[in-house]
Amino acid sequence: MDRVRTRYAPSPTGHLHIGGARTALFSYLHAKRHGGDFIVRIEDTDTERNVEGADEKQMAMLKWLGIKWDEGVDVGGPYGPYRCMERTEIYNRYIDQLLKEGKAYLSYTTKEELEKEREEQIARGEVPKYSGWDRDLTPEQRAKFEAEGRVPSVRFRVPEGKTIVIEDEIRGTVKFESDGIGDFVIRRPDGRPTYNFAVVVDDALMKISHVIRGEEHLSNTPKQIMIYEALGFKPPVFAHIPLILNGEGKKMSKRDESIIQFIDQYKELGYLPEAIVNFISLLGWSPEGEEEMFTPQELVDVFSLERVSKAPAIFDTGKLKWMNGQYIKKAPLERIVELAIPHLEKAGRIQTPLDEEQKAWVTRLVALYQEQMEYAAEIVELSDLFFQDEISYSEQARQVLAEEQVPVVLKAFLELVQQSASFEPDDIKKMFKQVQKETGYKGKKLFMPVRVAVTGLEHGPDLRGSLSLIGRDRVIKRLHQVIDNVL
Ligand code: GLU
Repeated sequence: MDRVRTRYAPSPTGHLHIGGARTALFSYLHAKRHGGDFIVRIEDTDTERNVEGADEKQMAMLKWLGIKWDEGVDVGGPYGPYRCMERTEIYNRYIDQLLKEGKAYLSYTTKEELEKEREEQIARGEVPKYSGWDRDLTPEQRAKFEAEGRVPSVRFRVPEGKTIVIEDEIRGTVKFESDGIGDFVIRRPDGRPTYNFAVVVDDALMKISHVIRGEEHLSNTPKQIMIYEALGFKPPVFAHIPLILNGEGKKMSKRDESIIQFIDQYKELGYLPEAIVNFISLLGWSPEGEEEMFTPQELVDVFSLERVSKAPAIFDTGKLKWMNGQYIKKAPLERIVELAIPHLEKAGRIQTPLDEEQKAWVTRLVALYQEQMEYAAEIVELSDLFFQDEISYSEQARQVLAEEQVPVVLKAFLELVQQSASFEPDDIKKMFKQVQKETGYKGKKLFMPVRVAVTGLEHGPDLRGSLSLIGRDRVIKRLHQVIDNVL
């Protein structure tokens, strides 16, 4: 078998999208599973749509996800250049070959003529298809068009009456009739190749063995197969991976605001790359057993195209959050602290650089929420109570504070806090024991009044840790406030 070589070929038109990241991931996993090479090629021939710097940003996001390539614009490789617009000479060589062999022709149709032809076909109830009226112009006709100043494009001469069969790794046998396909442009009048042509030359010369890409490209595949045949290249194996649908079961569009769609947005929000990789690996692929949590290396070991489904994948935002939460729980605290700091800073809660004491405080704060946090940005909202001077007590909180044991418990606790020299979680534990002994109250009746009085909330992270972090002075102030005003 030929060496397995796959590629991801983004057009630098925007940020790295979930769908693109999945294509890159599946291509990467397939190559690595089979000990092969993964290539990143920048398909920048659609120059009007290119966005300055988008290629670098996309590559940075792939790296962040841990998807590494063996060949590409930045690392080079034996089949470069890996940027299409640096390969026009190569394309022209093959276009010349097709022109010489009569498999392509210079087409002088203007945009207006093309539009008119289409409109007429539609008016006649036909599916629009290029008529190929200028397939066989005489030298005189050509000279006349040139004299008019028309600049020709190059069109591929689609063979008549052919059935094009794709043996797709995922979709099975898919057939297209060549008669449904009009002669299509392979080089624009300004000399740039079109995607369908460049992709064939590039995949063939770069010895790509498996083209793994989104299902939306399936309809391009017959055109590409015809070009492979015309150039005498062996086509690769094709694997078209299913669409990704949004939570409502509709095709995800880039404008769909119900889903965060770009990888940099997830990075910004404090998601972990290995959680995202795990999540997107399950968009269309399913493992053999029940287990769904896989490290990147485990994915390399278990991924297979055979287990990629034809059916569309559903993007379940809740599941992504949950999965990220699982990874956050397992990650070293230090790492989550680093992710949380920029969010706390942006919210004006802290100011970097932090000195050692502040860093220790933030670390303890994040530790309180590590279990619960689904992504790092949540720390701001979750930890709100630690940054408020004044607490307001909701109706519910007041009801808790109205229970009969509350004054006794709070006063006993306040006294101990006032006497204490140290206010670490262990000291607080002892204080609660003491209050229990003195008042006879335990469990919820003991802890809830203190929690509600100090935080204003009935729920929250570990109480001793929270109190210690809020700090002795603020705890005293809040207990006083409740004892004097609320009770
Ligand atoms: N540049 C194409 C895209 O961004 C890649 C198509 C392909 O993989 O053949 O969709």
